[in-house]
Amino acid sequence: MIKTLRDIPQIQTLLDQPLIKALQAEHGHAQIVDALRQITVTARRDLRDNLDANLPPFDSRQFSEIVEETIKTANAPSLKTVINATGILIHTNLGRACLAPEAVAAMQAVADAPSNLEFDLKTGKRGSRHAHVEALICALTGAQAAVVVNNCAAAVLLSLMATAAGRNVVASRGELIEIGGSFRLPDVIAQSGAALREVGATNKTRARDYAEAIDEDTAVLLKSHTSNFKIIGFTAAPNRRDLARLAQENNVILMEDLGSGVLIDLAPYGLVDEPVVTDILKAGVDLVMFSGDKLLGGPQAGIIAGRADIINDLKSHPLMRAVRIDKLSLAALEATLRLYRPPYDPTQKIPVLRMVSEPLEAVQKRAERLAQDFKHLGLEDVEVFQSTCQVGAGTLPGQGLASFAVSIALQGMSPDQLAAKLRQSETPVIGRIKNDRSIFDVRGLSDTDVLGISAAVSAILKQ
Ligand SMILES: *Cc1c(COP(=O)(O)O)cnc(C)c1O
Repeated sequence: MIKTLRDIPQIQTLLDQPLIKALQAEHGHAQIVDALRQITVTARRDLRDNLDANLPPFDSRQFSEIVEETIKTANAPSLKTVINATGILIHTNLGRACLAPEAVAAMQAVADAPSNLEFDLKTGKRGSRHAHVEALICALTGAQAAVVVNNCAAAVLLSLMATAAGRNVVASRGELIEIGGSFRLPDVIAQSGAALREVGATNKTRARDYAEAIDEDTAVLLKSHTSNFKIIGFTAAPNRRDLARLAQENNVILMEDLGSGVLIDLAPYGLVDEPVVTDILKAGVDLVMFSGDKLLGGPQAGIIAGRADIINDLKSHPLMRAVRIDKLSLAALEATLRLYRPPYDPTQKIPVLRMVSEPLEAVQKRAERLAQDFKHLGLEDVEVFQSTCQVGAGTLPGQGLASFAVSIALQGMSPDQLAAKLRQSETPVIGRIKNDRSIFDVRGLSDTDVLGISAAVSAILKQ
């Protein structure tokens, strides 16, 4: 038994054990050394903490099995699928939008074979990767021209750099947003080489405020979607038409960082206030940027749509190469955008929109099915209740979406303990905790997810 630190041998001594030597042939020297180091470091820490090191004799088969298990864990994929029962449909930490099968197929098709990514099949000459989606984006948004980059943050940076470096950007004090910690609009403006002219107040900014700030150094009037907070009470923001007129009179560009960017009106599903890209461009905004993997329901991407002369400048800007979209995302984006056009119905075809638009009765049925599964496992304290879920990822702040959830309480296991075990499940399950109960919101779940949750809980009960 291992009782003191002295009982833990040197790595070299362990490597000389016949059973460990045998493992080296299969896993290689380096992996065995790493595993032995990890095991002995843990054992030393346990002893120092006055815990039992809990290790079998070093020359035993059990010990070599522990070494193998350690290697297996180290080699398991780090990035893996989870079940999102948080009630936040587009969860940035959980990978945002899930793709439609058509988008996955398109991605796969260009993944393991050459493609015409930058090759014009008509002329046999070099082509542009933007060509594959530009016409589609224009058709869907009414824009003159469009270009796509790696993500929306890159879209904002590139747009500002190409249009306003060395000049001024006028923005409202009520819209100087921070998103996800590392994207702060004032910092992005600074990074682009432009100077920020803040106007108005936190709660109220008027067109007049923008007008007074415009001078010969002004290049851009910037609007941004306050996508992760809401100011309520006495507020004012100028309407886009007034700003568009102002921009035109002064020969400056009106730009809008939309964040989520929806292509269809979601008001029928109870989500008002999320402006549709088409309307924004119609109101006279020169350039809009939005994400591919938020409400659009596609891959990570940043879409820039608007005036052709500006888009042309972006296409030839030196930063473009550094922020360009990769072929897999491009393939998924093209396929996703096609699902917005007839004969398809995007609310049926695009997973994010299907979640948002699913009738509440169907959501309730799913919750009842999950509750039933829990009861079959022998759980006694199971409740189905109407909940409010969030679209998430900085879209529609403060606007809940009616949903249903199942809450459980286990005998002898706290919600925190259960959550920790669920995170370690083969397919980890991420829910939430409220009032000392474990909660699984079902609007964002598939039928397979429902089975996955009950399987995970079942496995935990058997441990
Ligand atoms: C989410 C968001 C961004 C950043 O988009 P990414 O695609 O994550 O880079 C920028 N601006 C707004 C308003 C957003 O909501």
